[in-house]
Amino acid sequence: MAYRRESNQTNQGSKRYNIIIKSKDYKRICRFCIRKIDNIDYKDVDILKRYITEKSKIAPRRMTKCCAQHQRKLTTAIKRARNIALLPFAT
Ligand SMILES: [Zn+2]
Repeated sequence: MAYRRESNQTNQGSKRYNIIIKSKDYKRICRFCIRKIDNIDYKDVDILKRYITEKSKIAPRRMTKCCAQHQRKLTTAIKRARNIALLPFAT
């Protein structure tokens, strides 16, 4: 790699090194952090539907691009919504 030569003495050429470089280059954006939403409402089906896959599984963090705190709140909100039949269970 041509860029960032100064920090690659230890892990040069390995897969792990490439992942580290990638994560430095692009910035992870959490939509809930930007809008300053602390509590995700489980009755808000329109928002929750964006964070489940086609087979109605909960989307992983690499797809939702949420931070850890909001991903955790999102999963509990989706599970609550499933329990009162607002969202389908994964089949
Ligand atoms: Zn967040």
